[in-house]
Amino acid sequence: DLMVIGSANIDLVVSLPKIPKNGETVLGGNFLEVFGGKGANQAMAGHRAGGDIGFICKLGNDRYGNDLQSYFTKTGLPQEFFLKDNHTPTGIAQIFVSEKGDNAIGVASGANMTLSPADLAPFIPIISTAKVLLMQLEIPLETVTYAAELALKNGVKVILNPAPAKDLTEALCKNLWLLTPNKVEAEFLGETPITNLTEAETAAQNIRAKGIENVLITLGDQGCLLHTENLTKHYPTFPVAAVDTTAAGDVFNGALAQGITQGWCLAEAIPFAMAAAALSTTKLGAQTSIPSLGEIERFLEQ
Ligand code: ADP
Repeated sequence: DLMVIGSANIDLVVSLPKIPKNGETVLGGNFLEVFGGKGANQAMAGHRAGGDIGFICKLGNDRYGNDLQSYFTKTGLPQEFFLKDNHTPTGIAQIFVSEKGDNAIGVASGANMTLSPADLAPFIPIISTAKVLLMQLEIPLETVTYAAELALKNGVKVILNPAPAKDLTEALCKNLWLLTPNKVEAEFLGETPITNLTEAETAAQNIRAKGIENVLITLGDQGCLLHTENLTKHYPTFPVAAVDTTAAGDVFNGALAQGITQGWCLAEAIPFAMAAAALSTTKLGAQTSIPSLGEIERFLEQ
């Protein structure tokens, strides 16, 4: 019912006293290997929020690819959507985290960037009959554009989380039902700085003028701003004791898409997504901090 097409990575996280400078070696680190990639995080967030998810991604035929595949399968994502590239390694992110909480991240996209429009051929029937298609920009733009066109033609609502930000073509924008940039991405796409809600609205208008039906800017602990043809509305965030906001946006997008898939309107799906994202900031990590449907429902009842 909800299709997600996107990236899957292994995050190689090294915690250090400080981030190494050019030419420097810093000792004293701990190492952690975790499952990541915006596509995988968002698919897992939709799945945990109660969704029936098909997650299409491309892995390498290597140890990391096998690790990801068995992890996804164990958590209940259907296997038939995992593609393998025999010539390109699985995507990895090398992450340095300092004691102060700063980070530096290098990504080798690997097989994520070989996910081509032709690779989607076996999945055309299932994409065409989905309720919602959710994508990000860690796979080739031409694949995102192709899938969005196929989806819209068949009446599927297309949600694009434009992360990491890059210029969007007209051909892509006209097929999008909803774009969900965060503040930094909205500043880039809306070509204006955002320091308050008025400026966020200006950015949202500029982005919507590209031919996108609805724009929803997430603003971290300031909540989010929805801009549609008929209304502009700010949703303040749920106050929580946040300890790690990594992947808050991913959890937000996965839960939001799941809400829309259930037939909810944006006014219903946004608070659900904000609750899921707020909960995720109260725990460390990305995949490890994704709340379940029960947790989200209990939080909303409080
Ligand atoms: P990204 O992780 O992509 O940068 P944001 O930081 O904008 O995305 O966060 C996405 C959503 O997560 C926000 O719209 C908000 O609902 C929720 N959120 C983020 N940070 C907090 C926080 N400190 N407290 C509560 N909710 C938060």
